[in-house]
Amino acid sequence: MLRLFQFKGGVEPETHKSRSAREAIGEAPLPPIFVVPLHQSVGGHARPLVAAGERVRKGQRIGAADKWVSSAVHAPTSGKVLAIEERVAAHPSGLTTLSVLIEPDGREEWIERAPLDYGAMPPERLRRFLRDSGVVGLGGAVFPSHAKSVAAAVPMEYLVINGAECEPFMTCDDRLMRERAEGVVRGAAIFRDLLEPKRVLIGIEDNKPEAIAAMREAVENVGEDFAVVPVPTRYPTGGARQLIRVLTGKEIPASRRSPEMGVQCFNVGTAYSAWRAVAFGEPVVSRIVTLTGNVEAPRNWEIRLGTPLRDILPLMRPKPDTRRYVMGGPMMGFALPSLEAPIVKASNCIIAASPALFPPPPPEMPCIRCGACAKACPHELQPFELYRFSRARNFDKAREYDLLDCIECGCCGYVCPSHIPLVQYFRFAKSEIAARDQDKRKAEVAKERFERRRAREERDQAEKAERLAKAAAAKAAERQAAPNDAEAAKKALIAAAVERARVQREGVQDQSSIHPLGGN
Ligand code: SF4
Ligand code: SF4
Repeated sequence: MLRLFQFKGGVEPETHKSRSAREAIGEAPLPPIFVVPLHQSVGGHARPLVAAGERVRKGQRIGAADKWVSSAVHAPTSGKVLAIEERVAAHPSGLTTLSVLIEPDGREEWIERAPLDYGAMPPERLRRFLRDSGVVGLGGAVFPSHAKSVAAAVPMEYLVINGAECEPFMTCDDRLMRERAEGVVRGAAIFRDLLEPKRVLIGIEDNKPEAIAAMREAVENVGEDFAVVPVPTRYPTGGARQLIRVLTGKEIPASRRSPEMGVQCFNVGTAYSAWRAVAFGEPVVSRIVTLTGNVEAPRNWEIRLGTPLRDILPLMRPKPDTRRYVMGGPMMGFALPSLEAPIVKASNCIIAASPALFPPPPPEMPCIRCGACAKACPHELQPFELYRFSRARNFDKAREYDLLDCIECGCCGYVCPSHIPLVQYFRFAKSEIAARDQDKRKAEVAKERFERRRAREERDQAEKAERLAKAAAAKAAERQAAPNDAEAAKKALIAAAVERARVQREGVQDQSSIHPLGGN
């Protein structure tokens, strides 16, 4: 029996899960046009590999990872590329992102698919394969999984598979584990083979008994290093650091990555998609999405990535008083900016929100420094201080109080008796800090460039001065050498004249010796 630990803080909101968890996962139909964003993961933007007018097959790579922390993007069906253009992103900002528009031909014609026998290949090749198959964290974080599958210098003790799914309303992981447990476990085994941990712990909140039973059955044949562990239902148990704490007792400080402490964590949906890629050669072209909230038909659907929100409304049948659509859960999610925003790899849940379901918050009151927010914070931050500094735009101080460690879980705002939308203040402060950091980085780059140019100019000047000095020295040496040469020439002339005289003299003496009037 595994000993469980507790994380600090947390809350227990109403779960609202039973309605959407009832029915089996359905398969969403093809929309008239897919809008597939090329940037669907943390890291670099995928490079487009297709052009307008081109025909593509389902699973064809349409965007290539542009660096190591980046992930490929694939065609969700077969059809024709209509355009590659900026389209609204599934992001609260309402900004656009480069997207591939595909008109389906209805044939669902796959690329050639083949399983990958990775046992015989170097792990690096398997990681590249996962990157090129578009496998990223489907729990919502969308971090490229291949980049997480690298062990640190310390031995890997635990691989944690996250089936906690603590966000209210969300049931996509629950249904996945109930219906496709074997695939999830086999996917977890792929990450186990890459990371070689001593144990694989699959953590599932204890409000999902069917999922726990299905996963327990599935792990029976994979080895004793696997264990399915029910964990207490408490938000945010599904946060990676919180689940690691509960299952292993390890506290991962915000300043460190969990592999540095011998543990790594993947979501169950991620494990399943890794298995589909390896066992069937199917890249990530769809995901399970919970459609719920103020709807007639709450349910989980397998939806192809790039399906616009507008085209899934008939599946959920929103009630007439629906005002907006929230992507993610009510604690960490955000309102989608438009019905044209597409389903992406991060879209785990779409909640139709009405004023009755999510009543507008009462007016914000002053902070009474009751400390309830600090008690609820799972990261042991002091939200009331972060709020004070964020509100006063004292961002340096907010950073000093570890604002950047805030995971925006919303626990603090949930318990605040003054109804202060704390997370909104923190998001604002974080974006300001990010903007300032970017400005600072730009200024540093400009300064570095300026200093490099100045150093180059100084070096050029120094080289020029050296060249001039050398030339001057050479000339001076020449000048010095010139009189000596003249002297030498003069000496040579004198020597030549003396020689000539000597030769002349000797010639005269010889002639005198043979003169008839001479002696001897
Ligand atoms: S819970 Fe609200 S009122 Fe209480 S200290 Fe925190 S921010 Fe202030
Ligand atoms: S949102 Fe941030 S500050 Fe608030 S409880 Fe969560 S981690 Fe703590």
